[in-house]
Amino acid sequence: MRSLKRTSRRLRAPITPASSPRLLVLPPTARSIATHQSTTPSSTTTTTAVNPIKTLLIANRGEIALRIARTAAAMGIRTTTLYTDVDAASQHARCSPHAIALGAASGAYLDGARIVQLAKQHGIGALHPGYGFLSENPAFAQACEDAGIVFVGPPPKAMADMGDKARSKEIMTAAGVPCVPGYHGAEQTPEQLRVRAREIQYPVLLKSVKGGGGKGMRIVRTDEEFEAQLRSARAEARASFGDGGEVMLVEKYVVRPRHVEVQVFADRYGNCVALGERDCSVQRRHQKILEESPAPLLDDATRHDLWDKARTAALAVGYVGAGTVEFILDKDTGHFYFMEMNTRLQVEHPVSEMVTGTDLVEWQFRVAAGERLPLTQDEIEARILERGAAIEARIYAENPEKGFFPDSGKLVHLVTPKTDADVRIDAGFVEGDTVSEAYDGMIAKLIVRGPDRETAIRRMELALREYEVVGLSTNIEFLKRLCRSQAFIEGDVETGFIDQWKDELFQPRPTSDEVFAQAALGLLGSQIKLGPAAGPHGGTLGFGESGAQSRRKFAFRVRNDAAAEGSEAEVVQVDVAQQANALYSVSVLRDSSETPVVFENVVSEPSLASATKTRLTTFFPLARVESTLVQDPAAPEKLTVFQLGEKTELTMVSPGWFEKALGLKEVVGSVVAPMPCKILRNEVEEGQEVEKGAPLVVIESMKMETVIRSPQKGVVKRLAHKEGDICKAGTVLVLFEDVEGAAESS
Ligand code: ADP
Ligand code: ADP
Ligand code: MG
Repeated sequence: MRSLKRTSRRLRAPITPASSPRLLVLPPTARSIATHQSTTPSSTTTTTAVNPIKTLLIANRGEIALRIARTAAAMGIRTTTLYTDVDAASQHARCSPHAIALGAASGAYLDGARIVQLAKQHGIGALHPGYGFLSENPAFAQACEDAGIVFVGPPPKAMADMGDKARSKEIMTAAGVPCVPGYHGAEQTPEQLRVRAREIQYPVLLKSVKGGGGKGMRIVRTDEEFEAQLRSARAEARASFGDGGEVMLVEKYVVRPRHVEVQVFADRYGNCVALGERDCSVQRRHQKILEESPAPLLDDATRHDLWDKARTAALAVGYVGAGTVEFILDKDTGHFYFMEMNTRLQVEHPVSEMVTGTDLVEWQFRVAAGERLPLTQDEIEARILERGAAIEARIYAENPEKGFFPDSGKLVHLVTPKTDADVRIDAGFVEGDTVSEAYDGMIAKLIVRGPDRETAIRRMELALREYEVVGLSTNIEFLKRLCRSQAFIEGDVETGFIDQWKDELFQPRPTSDEVFAQAALGLLGSQIKLGPAAGPHGGTLGFGESGAQSRRKFAFRVRNDAAAEGSEAEVVQVDVAQQANALYSVSVLRDSSETPVVFENVVSEPSLASATKTRLTTFFPLARVESTLVQDPAAPEKLTVFQLGEKTELTMVSPGWFEKALGLKEVVGSVVAPMPCKILRNEVEEGQEVEKGAPLVVIESMKMETVIRSPQKGVVKRLAHKEGDICKAGTVLVLFEDVEGAAESS
């Protein structure tokens, strides 16, 4: 603490008594206005000059556009947003009083010249670039200034200095900020670079000076592979960054690195503060998924040294505004090195807002308007000590089980965790929206604060358990497992964390019997409401619909993406017998077991039943269980169950008795009666085109109604029977048009 005070004085330009005039006075306990429900901006005192920024163009999309709009609105700034055709119905297009169309090209958000032109044309005074897109483009920042538009970001010169990896490292070295041992000079022949690599000692990392997004980087472990790796790094860098991309740095490769970065903020008067650090080591594909502050297992001396070096780095390039200085921390030596500076607001800035009780977007507007920094370094540190720890999880539309491959689609069902002063959601989507593959798949960020790290992680896990998403794959279940991982709770993080713990993190979870029971009870609830014909499958036994004694059978299979290709999860059969109104007996039989698990005297009642969702509360003999069942109308055989904070995806399959009764294999191109039956009705007409899974024929057998569904997409050629016909097992009911030479005979 004491050394920090000295540092803050040294780093502050003498002309600046940072405490006056006080522009932003937040009592330490005040809720940040950045929390989900925007509260009144408690931060402005009467001494504050009116902010000259009155109109703003938000040159971004998704959650960051909404995030910026929220603070702008609280400050009385009139916002305008931009949208491309795929974004026309998006939340960011709707969140501002004015929205301007960019047209069909999804890359239009990158068209700087046009965006400046639009801002001018609409008489807009300032522009916020958010992150990504144009946020780190010095030429764009310059173009804004030339057009008389306030660019809410750093000066173009500082952006350019930090944008080149070799130049930034020269400046840092001169300023006394440690860089990864390496060579960033002009000698670029393979021989010269190889001599450097030997001096640095293998393993080394080759990096393009123009690098970004992990491109143009190669690890070289031995002298023998040096030339080949250099050639490959240069080829990739030239392809990605064009001329000049082939200029390489040679760096010591850190084998067990942590990614620790410092949020800095500078004003125009030479003040610069650090708003704590963030550990972002938990990454996949070199992209962060969990970020937290303070960094775990970091001693105070190192922490303050990091802040100090980050402020020095920013001041060395004349920085103004919000920025992040990224360091790589070598776990084996405890040393840290400057990696790069991101000259913008970052995705994970809410973590720092939560631990410092600030609104960094508000700070950006104030600093851009020429105000001084609202807080001193000492005031910030006092807040951090008081406010504890914060963690952010990035919610991505992606499939962790399939190598984190991005997904897209419609958010058929979306329930988000309850928010309060300590649980915040920054989201760009609501239920019914479509997540397009044209853009980054981050759909939301969940940020949680707690008095200490462990509490914050536990609250994060609880909040994640409230999240319900159907319609596309997300990393939510994976994030829950991360939060439960003992290694993570202990804070033993490094950039290879996910790979290191993959066995534990990707372990399939067993599905409880109650999940299958609830799926069946829920379907029963919705079937009763919708009538038997609309029911997905199963049938009524015993005394029929009106009698108190009725039974239905269902069969499910867990859709498990982690399962090996080709292998299918076991079929689980559920038999539900209704004993009285809302009273059931449920038996669950797994393929792998001889005897069913039976729940007697189960009281179950749906609290909501719509075409796609059923919510029900069931009192099992030993526990009360609440579940939400979601059926995507586009794929009715798929059922998603949210229960006790876990998501299970099921596919409804024909029950075992059905398949057994079928006995003979289905004749290609036709559908046969699975058992002796009476035809109740045909659901299709001859010549009609049907989708796979569409109801074809409803039959009755042993007083039980069964819907026969189409095993394929095709055109119905012939309906072999009419209502009332009695058929033997194996009789052809429906014949399809010849598909790829399928046999017509039966
Ligand atoms: P951080 O360093 O905060 O993790 P990233 O470097 O991952 O930030 O980028 C911030 C966000 O901006 C990410 O969601 C990324 O996908 C997006 N992004 C980055 N560059 C572009 C771009 N050129 N166009 C669109 N989105 C981008
Ligand atoms: P980019 O511009 O692509 O973000 P960075 O220089 O920030 O490039 O590095 C990206 C990632 O590569 C870092 O987050 C870190 O995981 C890894 N990395 C970078 N430099 C080193 C190094 N010297 N040793 C080990 N890993 C490194
Ligand atoms: Mg980086």
